[in-house]
Amino acid sequence: MQEHVKVKRNILLNPGPATTTDTVKMAQVVPDICPREKAFADMMKVMREDFVRIVHGDPGRYTSVLFCGSGTINMDVCLNSLLPEGRKVLVINNGAYSSRAVQICAYYGLPFIDLQFPEDEQPDIEEIERTLREHPEIALVYTTHNETGTGLLNPIREIGALVHRYGAVFAVDTTSTYAMRPIDMEADHIDFCMASAQKGLMAMTGLSFVIGDRALIEKSAQYPRRSYYCNLYLQYHFFETTGEMHFTPPVQTIYAARQALDEYFAEGEEAKWQRHLRVFEAIHAGLARLGFQDMIRRELQAGLVVAVKYPDDENWDFERVHDYCYERGFTIYPGKAAVQNTFRLCALGAITERDIEDFFVVLEEALRTCGVQIPVRYEG
Ligand SMILES: *Cc1c(COP(=O)(O)O)cnc(C)c1O
Repeated sequence: MQEHVKVKRNILLNPGPATTTDTVKMAQVVPDICPREKAFADMMKVMREDFVRIVHGDPGRYTSVLFCGSGTINMDVCLNSLLPEGRKVLVINNGAYSSRAVQICAYYGLPFIDLQFPEDEQPDIEEIERTLREHPEIALVYTTHNETGTGLLNPIREIGALVHRYGAVFAVDTTSTYAMRPIDMEADHIDFCMASAQKGLMAMTGLSFVIGDRALIEKSAQYPRRSYYCNLYLQYHFFETTGEMHFTPPVQTIYAARQALDEYFAEGEEAKWQRHLRVFEAIHAGLARLGFQDMIRRELQAGLVVAVKYPDDENWDFERVHDYCYERGFTIYPGKAAVQNTFRLCALGAITERDIEDFFVVLEEALRTCGVQIPVRYEG
């Protein structure tokens, strides 16, 4: 069957869902199965272990818990499930995704500190330390690895070391680095991290997972229960006792994720990261040739997302440029910076530097069609 189906290949330069291989797409086409069958539970058991393996977690100490939903479900789960009674969450906030974490805290009425930093800078470690020292009631510290809205990399290893020195639990949103930029649970001092199948794994949307310290999950059984569907311990406990997801899993998405995991291990952690970096470099080379400027200093970028400043040209029209590229199979994406107009080009997915070269031919045509001057201009 597979050889009869030809699916158009689009190059997604948005920050996920990412371009997938045909083999991952086709892995969704399987005989109908009830997910309560043992064969399905067996597949999820190995998958849970593989998710931990990607971040080099000791399988005795760490586990992964699967949820049916987009990546935000992980943030919701970690924040609402891991806070003991009478304690506080510290959110290190320097971008749109950390701000989402703050919103989640507010929606649950959790006690929290929103420690804000500029969105184009790494957070001030000394200020984080001062906050931890002055607030011994902080039990959970939350940060974002790669602030996907801007592409800024946060120094999680340094922050994590500090968090552990002050006896708190460290949860990191690794949704836009996992299975791309190498992560090591212990070396990075991570207690909990999270990701979704549609980003680094280059699979389908609908499957998200939290990776974390088993002992801490078990301890959280004693914490206030603030959600039913999104409680970490409840889902963990169901997996441990039955091998199944508590409620209906995204069956076909899980088959695709299985295939994507096989392809991940076949490509290899380092080779895959180097490929993403080559794509990232090709994006920078193309942007530089056209005169575009980055929003974030190059040395602070995580290697996966480039936030590009809108040029100062009256003919620049993001929507028109987007549509021109989209019609030719390339998707570019608006920015998510608070203070500046940007668009984003991302190095996720099953793409290579060759695809980026093809993209820049189209982007240049789009600019010419719109009458944007090349190289693009900036005032000041
Ligand atoms: C993509 C992403 C998420 C999840 O977003 P959804 O739209 O819910 O999939 C969360 N955090 C980060 C850093 C992300 O890049």
